[in-house]
Amino acid sequence: MRVHLTTLGCPKNQVDSELMLGMLAEAGYPLVERAEDAECLVVNTCAFIDRAREESVDTILELAQLKQRGRARALIVTGCLTQRYGADVLKELPEVDGILGTSDLGRIVDLVRQAAGRHDWATAAPPGYLYEARTPRLLTARVPYAYVKIAEGCDMGCAFCAIPQFRGRHRSRALRDIVEEVETLAARGIQEAILVSQDTLAYGRDVPGNGDVADLLLALSDTRMPWIRPMYLHPAHANDRLIARWARARVVPYLDMPVQHGDDAILKSMRRAVTARRMKDVVAAFREAIPGLTVRTTVLVGFPGETDAAFRALLAFLDDVRFDRLGVFTFSPEDGTPAPALPDQVPAETAAERAAVVQGTQDKIAWERGQALVGTVQDVLVDGPSEDPAFAWEGRLAGQAPEIDGVVYLRTREMQPGRFARVRITEVEGYELVGERA
Ligand code: SF4
Repeated sequence: MRVHLTTLGCPKNQVDSELMLGMLAEAGYPLVERAEDAECLVVNTCAFIDRAREESVDTILELAQLKQRGRARALIVTGCLTQRYGADVLKELPEVDGILGTSDLGRIVDLVRQAAGRHDWATAAPPGYLYEARTPRLLTARVPYAYVKIAEGCDMGCAFCAIPQFRGRHRSRALRDIVEEVETLAARGIQEAILVSQDTLAYGRDVPGNGDVADLLLALSDTRMPWIRPMYLHPAHANDRLIARWARARVVPYLDMPVQHGDDAILKSMRRAVTARRMKDVVAAFREAIPGLTVRTTVLVGFPGETDAAFRALLAFLDDVRFDRLGVFTFSPEDGTPAPALPDQVPAETAAERAAVVQGTQDKIAWERGQALVGTVQDVLVDGPSEDPAFAWEGRLAGQAPEIDGVVYLRTREMQPGRFARVRITEVEGYELVGERA
């Protein structure tokens, strides 16, 4: 049974897909690159906001076409959509033969083995799965970086977020197990380990004696992994002791810290457990402790109760902190979260206008930051052939996370993918940079 797996959603879902592919390969199932060549189709879905759910359903229906055309014999849906909606997925989408939640990845082999002969096959267990360094994993992308999931779930309960409903309570992997995985990845030639979870700064708090996130980073500093990049840091967990220990660890000078808003009344209503003043102090303390730090954030506009004054407070906050990188989202009312029931819902058009204003402000900052790099020589990790045919290769600075922060287009042909190079930055193209070997 030839199997093809489609991955949607975030890097944490990508890790789940690579684990499922690793288990299927170990069980002897041939894996094919093209869905058209497969007998069994698996789609690993995302469900955190409405647009993501639409994309998941559209992808399922698209793949179901291949079943009707007879090449594929089975369609299996996994991931957050099935964890969140369970057997309703089978009811709503009769094209689907089997579903698997996020918490039972190991059952994928059984599901594929039986899928062709059965229909309406569902396994849905409460979120509890955590993989280990020895769990078979197939790295899917031909790039020199890999995501490492250090924990799963979240206890924060932000008023707009449904993720805890289908990813469960916060639970950390053992520190030694993560170190073993990162060492193994380094031995396989990976140059960058990107540490992901829903709530990275809460790492280790649930496991007595395990050590916290700073202990993890200090332990990973002794591995052969050149770049270590932690992501998804909730500012409410940061404190001076953590920042001082973080600064001693050998991690890239990069901070991914979603702030979500800059108005205290909105932050309170979002249940973010932190004030704007405190977040400014946290970012300032990290910048003080780590020279050349790049700070990325995410903001959410259009949250219920966001008046013009609250929005102006957000703009003033962003103007004060001046993040190097920023992603802006508009509020999406999610079932099972408190926010849809809040008074003073903001019209979607107003939210979209506000998102455009935030994006416009950030474009200017990004341009200035890029211009300041022109003429400098930087370390660049060469990721691979450039998507832009005008350039031979593309890579990233330590201040650029994959897939979200832009790249450095490289003119020089004589470069090695998966290696670091000294690069002179020569131009800025929007959010991208252009460079050549120094
Ligand atoms: S910290 Fe992140 S994952 Fe957790 S509830 Fe808040 S937004 Fe959701």
